[in-house]
Amino acid sequence: MTNAPTGLPSTRLPSSAIQPDVWAEAHDRLVANLQGLIRIPSINPPGADAPDGETRAARWIAAYLESLGLRPAIVEPVPGRGSVHVRLRGDGTGGDPFLLLSHLDVVPAPSGRWTHDPFSGDIADGYLYGRGAVDMKGMVALELGVVTQLAAEAHAAGLDPGVDPIPRLRRDVLFTCTADEEAGAAAGAAWIATHQPDWLRAAGAVNECGGVSVTVAGRRLYPIGVAEKGYAAYRIRITGTWGHGSMPRGDNAAVLAAEVITRLAVPGPVRLTPVMTRFLEAAADALPTSVGTILRDVARGDADAERALDSMCDPMYARALRALVRDTLSPDVVSAGIKYNVIPGDATVEVDCRLLPGTTEAAMRAELVRRLGVDLAAACSVELTVFGAPVEAPAEGELYDILAATLREHDPEGIPLPVMVPFATDAKATQTLGVPTYGFSPLRLEPDERFLERFHGVDERVSLDALRFGLPVLYDITRRFCG
Ligand SMILES: [Zn+2]
Repeated sequence: MTNAPTGLPSTRLPSSAIQPDVWAEAHDRLVANLQGLIRIPSINPPGADAPDGETRAARWIAAYLESLGLRPAIVEPVPGRGSVHVRLRGDGTGGDPFLLLSHLDVVPAPSGRWTHDPFSGDIADGYLYGRGAVDMKGMVALELGVVTQLAAEAHAAGLDPGVDPIPRLRRDVLFTCTADEEAGAAAGAAWIATHQPDWLRAAGAVNECGGVSVTVAGRRLYPIGVAEKGYAAYRIRITGTWGHGSMPRGDNAAVLAAEVITRLAVPGPVRLTPVMTRFLEAAADALPTSVGTILRDVARGDADAERALDSMCDPMYARALRALVRDTLSPDVVSAGIKYNVIPGDATVEVDCRLLPGTTEAAMRAELVRRLGVDLAAACSVELTVFGAPVEAPAEGELYDILAATLREHDPEGIPLPVMVPFATDAKATQTLGVPTYGFSPLRLEPDERFLERFHGVDERVSLDALRFGLPVLYDITRRFCG
């Protein structure tokens, strides 16, 4: 590790000043914490077999924080749906707090195809396996690692981290780990934003979905999440005519549903937001010319260039990039019919629409109806079922600059750049409080790591070396922003 870049606060205790054996011990504790968390199936939606997994995870974290001498609190707006929080005090001279945000719930994990039980926390070949390893108990464990180190420094100075300011910390550090992120956050971050806003209110926050290395054409990029798309789900009810299957008819609701899906599933035009313009320019500058040219052509809306993405990088990243330069519509649920010889008179199609910043719900709905066309729209009613607004944080300023500079310091060959993510996180809730929230769970991955596919995937796992990289990075960021 190098000296602090000029212009950054000098009062911090950088990770490089901490003895290697301390980091080695911190890493072992981080791994044990992650295993402990994965072994609690905090599944969302809660099942009959584990109705209180989230509260059990919250209590487990609270007990750990108490073992550090801290005074955590739990809220449980719905029985079994617990979220946990703790505040480490600064001396109050540095402004509003810094928020370490995370969620403790995970999506279900049917165990059939896993090579390790999804709730075992098994370690094999340098990876820790389990549901939540990347989404996002790995980051919970990283954040707990930072909290652990700060509390230890207070103890070393003869202080009580439960009440006394942590040495050299000028802002408070908030750790807030929520339930219900995976199903809209009504029993988690959204509830907290309304009823317990001091758990989230901060000058800036780090959260999931960013800060993870992506290797393209031999260069290691670190996209930092500064924006996320909004979502609007619609239920389209299609009215046809019931009849006898022996006499086919054109207004069979299943046939109309097929046409609805065909018209909605076509990719729409490219629209670049300021963040994606900057991302594509920065990536084009950083990558070899041949690749840079493709990215610049994508930015201009060139359909051939979009197709060429698949040969330029892993199709997994190409898919993500295509979704980030347009509003998207994905018809995901279809239902029609009651019996093979009865022509259905009703059908429903549910569509998952993802909105770029700048696209309103009304504009998204208007686009959906436009695509149906006058003929089909006459047979359809369109109902909004869920909505979350897009999120944006500044891709410049103190916290963003610290995130980028600290990554560069820990990985001199790494190229940080701002990006939008296609999915939704708890940043939807922090945005309502005006908290700039960054996707930043620092991991340095091997070039062939298929990280994006680990989210909600089979054999979800995180590399131990990546976690070893991430902890000092997150610690330095906390120290710098709060120093
Ligand atoms: Zn997540």
